[in-house]
Amino acid sequence: MPYCPGCGVEVESVVRSCPLCDQEIPIIEGINDGKGRADETFPAPANIYGKKLRRLKNQIFFSVTLVVACALFTLGFLHSFLHMQSMSIQYGVVGVVSAWFYALLILGYVPGINHTIMGFGIVSSLLVTGIDAMDSQITWARGIGVPLIVLTTAMALAVIRIYRRFRHKNQYVVIPIYLCTCVSIFCPAIELIIDLHLTGAVALSWSVIVFIPLMTLACLLLGLYLKLPERLRSKIKKKLHI
Ligand SMILES: [Zn+2]
Repeated sequence: MPYCPGCGVEVESVVRSCPLCDQEIPIIEGINDGKGRADETFPAPANIYGKKLRRLKNQIFFSVTLVVACALFTLGFLHSFLHMQSMSIQYGVVGVVSAWFYALLILGYVPGINHTIMGFGIVSSLLVTGIDAMDSQITWARGIGVPLIVLTTAMALAVIRIYRRFRHKNQYVVIPIYLCTCVSIFCPAIELIIDLHLTGAVALSWSVIVFIPLMTLACLLLGLYLKLPERLRSKIKKKLHI
């Protein structure tokens, strides 16, 4: 609806002069020109920074690739022409190649957070396996490193799944419950892997100390949340703005 520029009263869109002060009502495109464009929905906002950010990321990635290529060339030169047979050259190659893959993942060239996390898991496992294969003195890499990486990747994927599930449900009380449960499972799993690798037998100690209080806390939180009367629950939600 247009307004009179003289007295400010709201007038019908078909009226060309104000019924109160006789001021002429100007025709404004989309408001009272009879085309009705004012009622149309607004266009979806476009992210104008997306392209800028992508260009910056491309520049960073190009620089990283250049540095990696130079490093590999230098290492190859040292190995082939100067006949350096040092372990550090092998370490260098593995480290530089891994760094390139990490940059690829960090800069978001792999679509989807799940694929990115799996990518981190795969690159880390390959890095650890590579170190293990090169250096015969290292024994922990395959026995402890790879299982731990697999476990961490699985946990991260589970956390993301839980977050996505409860993101729109206003049930944020489940997040501390799941966090406590995750950590309390994670710790015994770590100790189990280390124990199996070092001694071959399972004797859990510190992880049990972590497991018991955290699991108790998770159960308490869950019990409290489910048992509380609806009135009290909504009061807590209002207090905590959740
Ligand atoms: Zn008027």
